[in-house]
Amino acid sequence: MDTIIKKITNSPEDKEVYQQAAQIIHNGGLVAFPTETVYGLGADAMNKAAAAQIYQAKGRPSDNPLIIHIAEVEELGRVAEEVNEKAKKLMKEFWPGPLTLIFRKKKEVPFETTGGLDTVAVRMPSHPVAQKLIKESRTVIAAPSANTSGKPSPTQASHVKEDLYGKIDMLIDGGNVGIGIESTIMDMTVEPPMLLRPGYITMPMLEQAIGKIQVDPFLAGDMKEPVKPKAPGMKYRHYAPKAELFIVEGELSQVVAKINYLAEEKRKQGYKIGIIATEETKGFYCGDSVRVIGTRKDEASIAKHLFSVLREFDKMGTEYIFSEAFSEENLGQAIMNRLIKAAGHQIIRL
Ligand code: AMP
Ligand code: MG
Repeated sequence: MDTIIKKITNSPEDKEVYQQAAQIIHNGGLVAFPTETVYGLGADAMNKAAAAQIYQAKGRPSDNPLIIHIAEVEELGRVAEEVNEKAKKLMKEFWPGPLTLIFRKKKEVPFETTGGLDTVAVRMPSHPVAQKLIKESRTVIAAPSANTSGKPSPTQASHVKEDLYGKIDMLIDGGNVGIGIESTIMDMTVEPPMLLRPGYITMPMLEQAIGKIQVDPFLAGDMKEPVKPKAPGMKYRHYAPKAELFIVEGELSQVVAKINYLAEEKRKQGYKIGIIATEETKGFYCGDSVRVIGTRKDEASIAKHLFSVLREFDKMGTEYIFSEAFSEENLGQAIMNRLIKAAGHQIIRL
């Protein structure tokens, strides 16, 4: 299949793009589109066959449920049961925005969309392209990240093209996304509500809005027995670059010295090396494959470039990547969650 690629130009011509995309969704096809977090791969969430196609295009395990994207609060009633007061508070505070909430599902929502679960994940994106597409489609749209399963999530249209060209009907190019990591996921079916995946909406922000929350023990990662995550998708090795990635953690000057040492060792053995640095440290590294991920003064800048830096190293044929660790406070929790997964838990602690 040829994938139709259309750019959003903020001109009257965009109307036709949305109409064409909505028609594809209506007919059970697949459309990739930008959201404020990452690019999503959308299909009609209420259409079994369409939802099933998403798994095929991504090579996604069928037990990994999809997030349903809505454009108006009223649409929540079509898919979710028992929306409690705390959920309403979070919606009021953070929707539209990068927060996904888990509810009991309405029976009309197909199990193909929920990966066989009785619960459903719902989010209202704030990105204008996502909003317009959902409204024009007159349905709710199931959309996981628009990457091949296991690869870093797509933050630009070119990433989607690399992974899914020829496997999906249409790609709407709305430029680079703003946030760069996936939504925060909160399970609202338990009390206190439980954080299943950290994201741009941080724990202090959530607790400010609704008081105490619990954290999925899987996220803490310090259990003696292996535990299963409540969000099935969290168990897979994710975001993985082709290279072996190591995170080096400790006092920053020691981290820089250790990374230089390790990189030089691998370089001497003939490997292609990449280093993930920050504005604050870039000047201290030797070699030409240093990539600045952002500044330590603004965690959002690090989140925004994380996946694109990993993809860039893939393109360069990098074999070993060494990355500095970041603080796990606030947004750092989400950044380190993604980075540690990308590294397959290879952390060197100094
Ligand atoms: P993605 O859209 O690719 O970021 O993946 C969606 C994430 O949401 C995955 O980690 C899923 O496991 C999680 N998710 C979706 N629906 C549910 C649900 N009903 N219960 C728990 N986690 C869910
Ligand atoms: Mg994903």
